[in-house]
Amino acid sequence: MDILTLNSKEKLGCKMCDKCCIYRGDIRLIPLNVCKISKFLGLSINDFLNKYTDRLENNKLEIVLKTVGKLKQCILYDEKNKKCKIHAVKPMQCVMFPLVPENLKRDYFYNSEQCKLEEFKEIKVKEWLNGNNNIYSKNKKICMEWIEFLEYVQPKIENISNEKLEEFYKILFENYNLNKLNLKMQMRKNMKQVKQEVIKK
Ligand code: SF4
Ligand code: SF4
Repeated sequence: MDILTLNSKEKLGCKMCDKCCIYRGDIRLIPLNVCKISKFLGLSINDFLNKYTDRLENNKLEIVLKTVGKLKQCILYDEKNKKCKIHAVKPMQCVMFPLVPENLKRDYFYNSEQCKLEEFKEIKVKEWLNGNNNIYSKNKKICMEWIEFLEYVQPKIENISNEKLEEFYKILFENYNLNKLNLKMQMRKNMKQVKQEVIKK
């Protein structure tokens, strides 16, 4: 399988077939996604979390989008109009598809080839990734910070109490003022708070 960089040229396109929105249950949200999607749907963070997300098991401090039906379709897929209900603010995994990160830190990817067609034009990987409101370049740094935060914190919280875990979830995913502009800054503050709590333990 060829490793692609941001400047690689690849046949990439989308024929809106919905394949990447079924058999899911693995679309992870970082707290910034939670804020942006809640705002986009006009919901409070709590309502969004309750209605649209599930937590990963084993104290992972991670949440995923719920799925519906036998096909495990993403809950945010609009079956009638065959499109994503949150296209403008969709999570990083969905922005990349059909590309899959091989090493996000170094911007290495591979093409899952799930929807490759001869008719697709060759374009640069970075054009594909930034085609949707520049979500990739705008959010890559905060995604990396989230991954590094999880890598640091997860091994240290394997045996914490449910109460403490609940407290961490609330700080990380609910402690936001959606009316304030700098959501990334609020997310960084929340990660720092949890990290300090974990160090204190
Ligand atoms: S990215 Fe590929 S799998 Fe997903 S909807 Fe488009 S064509 Fe289908
Ligand atoms: S968020 Fe949108 S693009 Fe991503 S899996 Fe759900 S419906 Fe598909």
